Amino acid sequence: MSDPITVAIVGSGPAGFYTAEALLRSGRAVAVDIVERLPTPYGLIRGGVAPDHQTTKNVTRKYEEVALDPAVRYFGNVEVGRDVSLDELRDAYDAVVLAIGSPFDRPLGIPGEDKKGVYGAAAFVGWYNAHPDFRNLDPALDVHAAAVIGVGNVAIDVARVLVKTPTEMTKADLPDYAARAIQASPLTDVYMFGRRGPNDAKFTNVELREMGELDNCVPQLDAAQLPKTVEGEASDRDRRLKEKNLATLWEFTKRRADEKPKRVHFCFYAAPVAILGGERVEALRLERTQVVAGQARGTGEFFEVPCGLVLPSIGYRGAPLEGAPFDAKAGIVANRDGRVADGLYAVGWIRRGPTGVIATNRPDGVAAAAFIAADFVHGRKPGRPQLEALLASRRVQAISFAEWKKIEAAEIAAAPPGAPRRKFATVADMLALVDES
Ligand SMILES: Cc1cc2nc3c(=O)[nH]c(=O)nc-3n(C[C@H](O)[C@H](O)[C@H](O)COP(=O)(O)OP(=O)(O)OC[C@H]3O[C@@H](n4cnc5c(N)ncnc54)[C@H](O)[C@@H]3O)c2cc1C
Repeated sequence: MSDPITVAIVGSGPAGFYTAEALLRSGRAVAVDIVERLPTPYGLIRGGVAPDHQTTKNVTRKYEEVALDPAVRYFGNVEVGRDVSLDELRDAYDAVVLAIGSPFDRPLGIPGEDKKGVYGAAAFVGWYNAHPDFRNLDPALDVHAAAVIGVGNVAIDVARVLVKTPTEMTKADLPDYAARAIQASPLTDVYMFGRRGPNDAKFTNVELREMGELDNCVPQLDAAQLPKTVEGEASDRDRRLKEKNLATLWEFTKRRADEKPKRVHFCFYAAPVAILGGERVEALRLERTQVVAGQARGTGEFFEVPCGLVLPSIGYRGAPLEGAPFDAKAGIVANRDGRVADGLYAVGWIRRGPTGVIATNRPDGVAAAAFIAADFVHGRKPGRPQLEALLASRRVQAISFAEWKKIEAAEIAAAPPGAPRRKFATVADMLALVDES
């Protein structure tokens, strides 16, 4: 049998796992190593998808089957760019696939963004999902009103997690520190602002409808902002989704503000222009907009909403990785349909930008595996032993998939009644658990 093609996949989110799965199915002999900066796998499935949407996370069972294939090896707690360089990986492996996602918040670009009380979704979602990078965010939740900027599913997640009751969160894996902070908060009103109109909002309907079904919180919306029908060009599928959303939003206009103790206000045609206050946020200043040819244009009419918390949820962006060309404007690794350079490929959010659902990443993995199968008939480079030697020489403690399973078992064992797990929120705690077992 010919030598297997050695492939390093950098990043263990959906795009990384779909690539590994497609390589296993490619008909070529492959040896696939998944290199992940955190001890824990699964990227935004663990650190982004909302803690109260556990069924969405079930897809990891499929990824686990891939990880357990004898041709696949997991190297957790190994960061490319810190523990090993991309050039070193390319020297060791026939092919390297970048699946590193887009982990940073796109800035709003308005004055006041540096005030205490402004937290981008990447940071805030990471905090309530126990992502080690954001464990110490300690957001100031001692506020009565919050402004979420953005009208997509991430914005809805952020708003919902802030207003759900402890009972509604029983089956979630919200970490204790976040649950305590959210429950201690006197927050009663969350405002969601979109620059354009309801037709342009990117909610999926299940997520939107859920906002009308919460125990303690009622949606609010001014009927004057809603069109009677879906306007503009759209594919049949998009039009159906927009019609469903519009019907749901019309239902929201019938809800009374005093029905429940908390409210989420949907506010369209409003562009934030400044975050006001001293050291801390005291209000958000916005300009009313109108939509002309699909673009929001300011009308010159301004208004302010008092709030102590501003949570921009307007999108993510990737960061450059030394050794890979970066398209700074798009915030992605520069690539042509997933090809970056000889033996170097990109998949998922770092290839396309931060859009789409989990399954949207699958075709990227299929395409990268097809490129690799076309570019290599058999392997030439050693792959795994060379990486292991590098890591050993630098005393990097790589976490194997079996060790991750120990972390996972400890999280499940520590889960409060009804909850799926109690997550470790620091790398040190995860490594200590591995070391002592
Ligand atoms: C808040 C939020 C909620 C979402 N909710 C849903 C939902 O409910 N349903 C749905 O279908 N989709 C949801 N999505 C979208 C979905 O999560 C993404 O489509 C998907 O995770 C993108 O996959 P990816 O593999 O490209 O990136 P990621 O999932 O971000 O994975 C990238 C991985 O690379 C690792 N990495 C980064 N840099 C390095 C490095 N230098 N070395 C080694 N490893 C590295 C990261 O730690 C991470 O594990 C959500 C997204 C967000 C942001």
